[in-house]
Amino acid sequence: MEKRYCRKCLLAELDDEKLAREVKDAIERLDAKTRVSDPEYKNRLDICRDCDYLNEATCGACGCYVELRAAAKSGRCPYKKWK
Ligand code: SF4
Repeated sequence: MEKRYCRKCLLAELDDEKLAREVKDAIERLDAKTRVSDPEYKNRLDICRDCDYLNEATCGACGCYVELRAAAKSGRCPYKKWK
């Protein structure tokens, strides 16, 4: 069963290390059919790094964890900076 993230947590309630590990684990659970290639993943994240919406690993435009979104073939940038 896929683990979901609580959108109601306050920053004070978050464990940064645990959260980072859970996002990484979610990326690793993506199978080859649903995951982008490593070069495409890097390209997407390079664009996010230069984007003013990037805020502590999340996208300020949509609230997602950019690394998880960028890893999925179905992931899209809300501003079409990458697709
Ligand atoms: S997903 Fe798009 S809007 Fe969000 S941080 Fe990345 S480049 Fe910026």
